[in-house]
Amino acid sequence: MSLKELIVLATPSPLVKIFAAPYVAGDSIEKAIDTAKSLWEKKKLCSTIDLLGEELDNDEDVKDTIETYEKLIKKLGKQPYATISLKPTQLGSHRGTKHCEENIEKLVVLAGEYDNMITIDMEDHNYTDMTLEIYRNLKKKYSNVGTVLQSRLFRTKDDILSLKGLNAHIRICIGIYREPPEIALQDKTEMKKKLLEYVELLFKEGHYPAIGTHEEWVIKESINIAERLNIPKNGYEIQMLMGVPRDRLQQELVSNGITVRLYVPFATRWKYAIGYCKRRLIANPMMGVYVLKNLVKRH
Ligand SMILES: Cc1cc2nc3c(=O)[nH]c(=O)nc-3n(C[C@H](O)[C@H](O)[C@H](O)COP(=O)(O)OP(=O)(O)OC[C@H]3O[C@@H](n4cnc5c(N)ncnc54)[C@H](O)[C@@H]3O)c2cc1C
Repeated sequence: MSLKELIVLATPSPLVKIFAAPYVAGDSIEKAIDTAKSLWEKKKLCSTIDLLGEELDNDEDVKDTIETYEKLIKKLGKQPYATISLKPTQLGSHRGTKHCEENIEKLVVLAGEYDNMITIDMEDHNYTDMTLEIYRNLKKKYSNVGTVLQSRLFRTKDDILSLKGLNAHIRICIGIYREPPEIALQDKTEMKKKLLEYVELLFKEGHYPAIGTHEEWVIKESINIAERLNIPKNGYEIQMLMGVPRDRLQQELVSNGITVRLYVPFATRWKYAIGYCKRRLIANPMMGVYVLKNLVKRH
């Protein structure tokens, strides 16, 4: 474990909450929806709203999570700017794949009633098989479901090929989870080069890639690939995390007619948000310094 990981993991939760504030839309469904609406109205940015929470291992918490997602989907209603993201380990994976699939299916069906789309996030490698099994089963029945693949994993090319004919909606990203060298690349530049290979493969296999990165050269190169393959601008999108400062780039993409979607997380209970926030801070420990500077400036 690196020193920065040790420091972030040892940081007390209340401090993590302050440092991670730019990445989280708030503590209610209403705040998440307001954020998504305002991103759309002010900047023409789309969102995918996520209820923070993972590795839930009791039925009550899972029930709570399902109810919150149901309320979110109903409150969002039909609109052009916000989709939903969720994780298998917040939706019953502790009781096995079938149970988790049934829970996600309920939400996919409900979202379908509002012409909305659900993306099943990808967690660490222990859940890749489960997530893809659920995804394949659901995608055969419903068009409004997507998932995520991580370019750092050696298995990803085979996973893309295993989606043949599904017309899949795939967020392709490097992956946030540290994975062992036996199964994953360790160098970020290599992960980004692989990401570009997979963008091309996804296009060639007839899928819709959502390219999840903040790295400008990766975004520009993805667009070059799309243009070379004659993929129209509505055949892909670029995704970024709310809180990562990319205003200029986002506006440039939007004004070129490319869909940009931000990941907009919210938390109804703070304890559920800790894992996500710590991973974001490990990805960018400088965020803590920016937030402290802003706090000092304000007071
Ligand atoms: C919409 C979206 C959804 C995602 N879903 C998943 C998922 O389901 N599963 C999964 O494993 N991973 C997911 N990720 C995370 C992703 O895999 C990467 O870990 C993350 O996007 C950082 O990779 P990068 O390509 O931006 O490259 P990096 O090299 O990590 O970042 C490039 C540059 O972006 C900036 N940056 C990156 N992250 C931050 C940050 N947190 N704060 C401030 N600046 C930052 C830095 O300036 C950095 O130099 C998602 C990412 C996005 C954008």
